[in-house]
Amino acid sequence: MAKIAVIAGDGIGQEVIPEGIRLLSALDGAHGLGLVFEELDLGAERYLRDGTTLPPETMERFRTEFDAIFLGALGDRRVPSNVHAKDILLGCRFQLDLFINLRPIQLLDARRCPLKGKEPADIDMIVFRENTEGLYTGVGGQFKRGTPEEVAIEAELNTRLGVERIIRAAFDYAERHGRSSVCMADKSNAMRHGHDLWQRVFRVVAEEHPSIEAFHLFVDVLAMEMVRAPERFDVIVTNNLFGDIVTDLGAQLQGGIGLAASGNLHPGRVSLFEPVHGSAPDIAGQGIANPLATHLSAGMMLTHLGHPQLEAEIQGAVQRCLQLDQVTRELGGELATSAVTDAVLGHLGLS
Ligand code: ATP
Repeated sequence: MAKIAVIAGDGIGQEVIPEGIRLLSALDGAHGLGLVFEELDLGAERYLRDGTTLPPETMERFRTEFDAIFLGALGDRRVPSNVHAKDILLGCRFQLDLFINLRPIQLLDARRCPLKGKEPADIDMIVFRENTEGLYTGVGGQFKRGTPEEVAIEAELNTRLGVERIIRAAFDYAERHGRSSVCMADKSNAMRHGHDLWQRVFRVVAEEHPSIEAFHLFVDVLAMEMVRAPERFDVIVTNNLFGDIVTDLGAQLQGGIGLAASGNLHPGRVSLFEPVHGSAPDIAGQGIANPLATHLSAGMMLTHLGHPQLEAEIQGAVQRCLQLDQVTRELGGELATSAVTDAVLGHLGLS
């Protein structure tokens, strides 16, 4: 049995997550996976109703009762502070120590790529973004706030443990999946303390993996190279801020935000899976949200639960949908959200 906490969240999260559950339930029916879903009433509606974002007892249940968390999107114009999103998503990342933000960047249909002449074989990389440190810990402060002499400090936190475990995770992944190289991106030419640590740890771990080509790029060069020659990249490892930015660049290379899936992982522990896109208030409630990023995220969750073959099958089915233009409007198709899932199920032989 695998117990999955479901937080559909806000906006189109409410539309795509039920589609993901429909897909997972169909696979469960066909393969006897023993998936058990529990929907949690969390998100903007709950916050506006009673002020709850993420109760400590729910966090404790994540730790002790659940194998995975399936999250839609968080963001609502009625909560301008976005406090519920921060408490839920950052709360899970930090308190559950989900130190790997895993972002596959895989082109499934050449027509979806904004770069000229690129084929699926050219864009097939996976980013290991450090997810618990860096510039996103909130360490820092403001001094003389609101005055002309105001000072604002945002400190970047890099620990030996944090840097080492994400770099190790990237090399271990490369080795287990037959990937040939790991690229580490930093800005050690300008950030002499923290990124020097990344440099030193990268060299040590790379030496332990002589069969994997290890190379380094400054993150600005990485951004250029991902556009100029994406075929250079296999596995990329970088810090929290840089990973956030280059993975969105990668999402466009693979065909847009509606196709970008992610996992927030701590191997061997409860982990969280979510489509990369936000709540998209401009299209919410119309039944036109693209569910494919959610389906690909569901696939990543199945790998985490020990069924990598099913992730590959989902990818294959999503690829067929893209090739046959069985897609939503933003990708030039005509299908509604649920019709796209119907097509995915059809390609899996589950309709
Ligand atoms: P947030 O909730 O994080 O503030 P957002 O929803 O405004 O973010 P993105 O997720 O980056 O921002 O999406 C930007 C735009 O892309 C959306 O407003 C929407 O038009 C489109 N979009 C995003 N996800 C999807 C999707 N799954 N299907 C169709 N269009 C999408």
